[in-house]
Amino acid sequence: MLDGMDCLFCRIVAGTIPAKKVFEDELTVAIQDINPQAPVHVLVIPKKHVASLAETDAGDKELLGHLLEAVRELGAEQKLGKGYRVVINTGPDGGQTVEHLHLHLIGGRAMHWPPG
Ligand code: 5GP
Ligand code: ZN
Repeated sequence: MLDGMDCLFCRIVAGTIPAKKVFEDELTVAIQDINPQAPVHVLVIPKKHVASLAETDAGDKELLGHLLEAVRELGAEQKLGKGYRVVINTGPDGGQTVEHLHLHLIGGRAMHWPPG
């Protein structure tokens, strides 16, 4: 299992790899995605290392709620009143490329459906 200094998002949380931080509290950090897919593309990342949504358990209920509340607050702050999309890519078939749980907050343009 990747964590600590082997994990990209753990390094961003620790500040050893720089990122454009847009929000931080005791449980989470939110950063601008390095390869934005829309005018707003923010990653909401738990400070605790969890590999993916599939690796969470009932003990993470509060953390998961907290992450969604952070997304809601950021959506309001980033002026996404017309809406936005929240994505949690999970595992290889889900398109997850960084093995540390993160929520994508994507907005500022109309989204397409179905996703690819
Ligand atoms: P996933 O594909 O795992 O759902 O999303 C990983 C996201 O992390 C991608 O959107 C990718 O652009 C972003 N990303 C990868 N490396 C970095 C980085 O070093 N800094 C930042 N800010 N974002 C990154
Ligand atoms: Zn990590």
